[in-house]
Order: sequence, then structure tokens, then C-alpha cells
Amino acid sequence: MAYPSEFFSNLTSGYLFPEIARRIRAWQEKNPGQKVMRLGIGNTTEPITPHIANAMKEKIDSLSCRDTYTGYGDEQGDTALREALRRHYEKNYGVHLSADSFFVSDGAKSDAANIQSIFSTRSIIAVQDPAYPVYVDSNVAGGHTGRYNQSCDGYDGIVYMKADESNGFVSSPPEGHVDLIYLCFPNNPTGAVATKDQLSAFVEYAHRNKAVIIFDAAYCDYIQSLGIPHSIYEVDGAMDCAIEINSFSKNAGFTGVRLGWTVVPERLVCESDDESILHRFWNRRQTTFFNGACNIAQAGGIAALDETGRKECASLVSYYKENARIIKTAVEEAGLTCYGGTDSPYVWTKCPEGMSSWDFFSFLLEKAHVATTPGSGFGPAGEGFIRISGYGHKEDVEMAVKSIKENL
Ligand SMILES: *Cc1c(COP(=O)(O)O)cnc(C)c1O
Repeated sequence: MAYPSEFFSNLTSGYLFPEIARRIRAWQEKNPGQKVMRLGIGNTTEPITPHIANAMKEKIDSLSCRDTYTGYGDEQGDTALREALRRHYEKNYGVHLSADSFFVSDGAKSDAANIQSIFSTRSIIAVQDPAYPVYVDSNVAGGHTGRYNQSCDGYDGIVYMKADESNGFVSSPPEGHVDLIYLCFPNNPTGAVATKDQLSAFVEYAHRNKAVIIFDAAYCDYIQSLGIPHSIYEVDGAMDCAIEINSFSKNAGFTGVRLGWTVVPERLVCESDDESILHRFWNRRQTTFFNGACNIAQAGGIAALDETGRKECASLVSYYKENARIIKTAVEEAGLTCYGGTDSPYVWTKCPEGMSSWDFFSFLLEKAHVATTPGSGFGPAGEGFIRISGYGHKEDVEMAVKSIKENL
């Protein structure tokens, strides 16, 4: 007899984005012919840039030719891409890693979801609150937590590190003992960045507790403030306590192409006599359950990391950041308080007095015809906020903010 997973059964229903889509559909059915302006989902909208697109076209050509065709590549990724990543960290962050520490994947979401599988189910998990939902849900499905607990609006067995106005949306390390800490900076959804000192506090915590930090740096190219680390490895001591996840989605527009990477340094400290056990386990995981990222995507990744590619990515990132600036300015002019939007594509906007996240979401949908993302969908501490996204065509963003200003 087949039984469904007891851990999947622990997951609460209604992933955030399907619920938003349902509400938008319902509104559209009631208001036929009216257009919804979308400043909700964090999906890129601008085309892949020429140099990177050309590299992928050339790869397709070489795959179409008998002499240059290749089949499966290394599960860990093309050597040329892992080398390019190694050089990228060295040149841009002053971080020295071996090419073997890099594992190329089909995106940061898969890696963020799968990384829990190399840790014991006994591990106590800490997440920022609010946070990208994948960290919590993958740990629930992986059996690392208890059940959903209505009374605290969270899962038993997970430590929620509050990020709110009082700490500038940068959580402090937990007071008690935890084993795995998920951090994301620049943060989705709040747009906050962490200073070197703030990250150092987590690294010191990890050393004291033999804990491992899982650092999601998907938005690192959006950082413009000076002195903010782009990689966790810029912080002293992080090399033996942190795993870093990153992606080409938000800087090269690879949301549909699918390409990311995870850094698992060879000597991560954990509760084991085997110094390289986590590196070995992740290698085992990837070579067993994954057959390597798309070779066309990887050719694009190599191009994205060379000088021309980096320039193209920078201009793509500037485009979305300009949108975020337009949103931030308009929202402030409308008299609302907001955060983020400078080192991030997201503007974390405070709901007017007395309105919940879903109230304000519905208000903007009904009055301004603008779709946003309710902050409460990212965790209990997101209540009272909405996330407004800078992903979209500039002219659409301008139209949406005009509508918000006129209808607020
Ligand atoms: C968009 C995003 C990613 C990127 O995911 P991919 O699977 O690489 O597209 C990773 N982490 C966060 C927090 C994100 O918002």
C-alpha cells in the first residue's frame, strides 16, 4: 500500500502566488475588460542581452553539428563555467574559492529547496521573518520541522528571526541554539541589505554553535550602497560555516532559461570528524539526483561572466532599479512609508494605518487596478506590508504608480 508523505501533509495549503492569481482572476471576472497592472510577482520582463544571447545561439549551432555535438556534461557543471565563477569571485569580491566548490544548477530555487537534504532531520532551522517561502516549505517537506501551529502563525520547530522596522529589517542571530540559518541579502521581500558587521555576527554565531549559514545572494548585483558585502565569503571566517546560493535569473534575465550555482566550500565545519563531509554529500546529491544544467544555458552563463556580459547584466539591473526608484518616489509622494528599493528591485511598503496586507492588496487591486504582493505571505512579520516589484516594462510601471497616486 502506498502512503502519501507525512511531511508533505504538514505543508499548509495556498502557496502565496497561486492565491494572488486566484484573487486577480476573481476581480477580472467581476470587471470584464479592465486591465490589471502587475507589480506583484518577481519575474523579469526585459530581453536577454545581445552578447549573452549570441553565446547561446552559437552553442545551439555547435549542438546542431555532428563534429561539435556534446551530450551529458559533468553533473557539477561545465569546467569552463566553474572556472569563470571562480575568477568572478576572485576579481570582484576578493574571495578565493576552488572551482570544485562551485556546483552549477538549474537555478537557485532548486538548490535552496534541496540543500536541506544533506543535513540531519534533527537540525534546528532558523529563517528570517519575513522570507522567501522556499526555505521554510522545503524544510517542512524534508521532515526538518513539526506541524503548522495556528497560535504562532508558523511551524513548530522553526526559529523565526524577526526582521522589522525596529532592526531595519536585518534580523539578529537567534538567542538559543540552531543548526541551520537561512539568510537572504539583498532581501526578498524587504529589499534590506546587511553590513559586514551584521553578517559577522551570524558568522560568529555559526562558529560558536557549529551551525551552517545558507546565504541566498540572488540579488547581489543590485547592491549599490558602498561597503555592503556581495558574497558572504567577504566576511572573515565565513568560508568554514557558509554555503552560498546564487543565480543568473535576476541579473541576466535567466528566469526562463534556468541557471544558478551553489558554493559548498570543501572544509565546512559541522558535527562530524569528516572535514569535507558536506561537500561530499552535496556532490553525491547532485551527481545522483541531477544530470547537470542545460548546456545552452551554461554557454550563456559563461558569456554573462566575461567583461561584455558583466556590462550587459549591469545595464539590465539598472533598468529594474530605475523602476524601483520610480515606485519608491511615487509611494513616498503618496504619503506612505516604504523601505528597500535602492539595493534591490523591491519596495517594501507599509500599509496605511489599520489595514492588513491582504486589505491593502485588495484596496490597490480594486481602486488602482494594481496587483502587488501581500507581505503576510512571506511570514508573520510581513503583516502590515506589501511588496511592490520593480520588474516590468518602465512604461507599465509608470502607469501603475500614476494610478496608485491618483487613487490612494
Ligand atoms: C528569484 C529568486 C531566486 C532565483 O531563483 P532561480 O530558481 O534561480 O530563478 C533565488 N532566491 C530568491 C530569494 C529569489 O527571489
